[in-house]
Order: sequence, then structure tokens, then C-alpha cells
Amino acid sequence: MGSNIGNRLEHLVQAVRLLNEHPAINVKKVSSVYETEPVGLTEQAKFLNIAVVIETSLKAIELLSACQFIENKLGRMRKIRWGPRTVDLDILLYNEETIRLENLIVPHIRMAERAFVLIPLIEINSELKNPVTKKLYSEEPAMEDEGVVLWKKVEGVEEFLKQD
Ligand code: ATP
Ligand code: MG
Ligand code: MG
Repeated sequence: MGSNIGNRLEHLVQAVRLLNEHPAINVKKVSSVYETEPVGLTEQAKFLNIAVVIETSLKAIELLSACQFIENKLGRMRKIRWGPRTVDLDILLYNEETIRLENLIVPHIRMAERAFVLIPLIEINSELKNPVTKKLYSEEPAMEDEGVVLWKKVEGVEEFLKQD
């Protein structure tokens, strides 16, 4: 997840809350919060990023809909590609599956080159491998990127959700 508009932390907290309130989704882990220089379109505010682990009975495509519902609910303006957003919820991995649908590609197609994805992900599980190449995400060169800074240590889901 990422946010770079307004109260960025609040947007992430709200997004995790809404995910967890979904009857078919259980949030199991939340990474620390990292601050990241914008990638792609660089003339915009810095992002806060987190990764979460969920347990769900939803199919991946249903999970994508749930994520988009939350993005819309939190007022995402889908105007500029890679532009500012209240919150972006992307599916990085889904079990060890490879999914290639028109509107859903898993593993997320750009995740291995993004330090702002890999660093929170590796904090949650340093053993995670690309299900296709079997390469450890912790060994991706993008991990060396210095533009991703620990912004707030997070100790657990409950603690994360309690703040306001
Ligand atoms: P990026 O994909 O580079 O992170 P983004 O998250 O800003 O960019 P969005 O505008 O959120 O892009 O999404 C564009 C489209 O990407 C969505 O409509 C969705 O159908 C598609 N998409 C494909 N794979 C995924 C995925 N794994 N997670 C989320 N969206 C995905
Ligand atoms: Mg994204
Ligand atoms: Mg997205």
C-alpha cells in the first residue's frame, strides 16, 4: 500500500482497517511504515508505504475488487498514472500463484524492481521467493536503494490499527 496525499499514515491505517473489516479478509501482519521518494513521476510528495499479509477466502480477482473498493472509498483520484493518490492497494503475491488476467497480474509485474515494495515485504518475511523464478526477493538489486527510509516502526496489527 502507498499514500502520498494529506494524512498519509491515516490513509494507510484506514485502508488496513477496511481490509480487516471485510468479512472474508483477516489482516495477519503489517510491516513498519517506510517513507519513499516518488518513483516515475518525481514532482510529487513523498510516499508512505507498508506491506501487509492477509488471510482470505476471496479469489484473487475478488480481492482486487475489494482493494479497489477501499481505494475509492478513501477518495482516490484516478487522474494521472503513477500520480498522487490517497491510497494505492496492490496485490503483490497470492499464495504462490501466477495470475495473468487482463486486469490482474500476480506477482505484481513491477514489484521486484521497487525498493519501496521489497523492503516492507522482506521485513514481514525475509524468505519470500518469486514463485516463478524462485529467486529470493531479499536478493534483488533494488533492495540496495537508499531512497526508502524507516519512518515508523510497527510492532503488530493491533497496535497499528489503534492509532488515530
Ligand atoms: P503500478 O501498477 O505501477 O503500481 P498503480 O498501482 O498506480 O501502478 P493503478 O492505477 O492502481 O496502478 O492500477 C492500474 C491497474 O492495474 C488496475 O486497474 C488493475 O486492474 C491493474 N493491476 C494489474 N495487476 C495488479 C495487481 N497485482 N494489483 C493491483 N492492480 C493490478
Ligand atoms: Mg501501485
Ligand atoms: Mg494500484
